[in-house]
Amino acid sequence: MNQQERIITCEETFRRLEDYVDRELSAEEMERVSQHLAVCEGCAHEFHFQERTLQALRNRLQRIAMPATLLSRISQALAQE
Ligand SMILES: [Zn+2]
Repeated sequence: MNQQERIITCEETFRRLEDYVDRELSAEEMERVSQHLAVCEGCAHEFHFQERTLQALRNRLQRIAMPATLLSRISQALAQE
């Protein structure tokens, strides 16, 4: 996919969504995902779901002092198995 493409596809959004929720994307990528979420109800719904889930995880993580990004990596690794 062309990196200069302004509006990204649902598939690309989904691939970036976790990092987007975690704010680990570059400003440019954040903007691309934002643009897609603004026009795509399905992805926006998924984003809100993931955001809520991550927030719940963060609340728990704060108690055990583990970086949210680490948990994100762990869940990604588990999802890939
Ligand atoms: Zn979409």
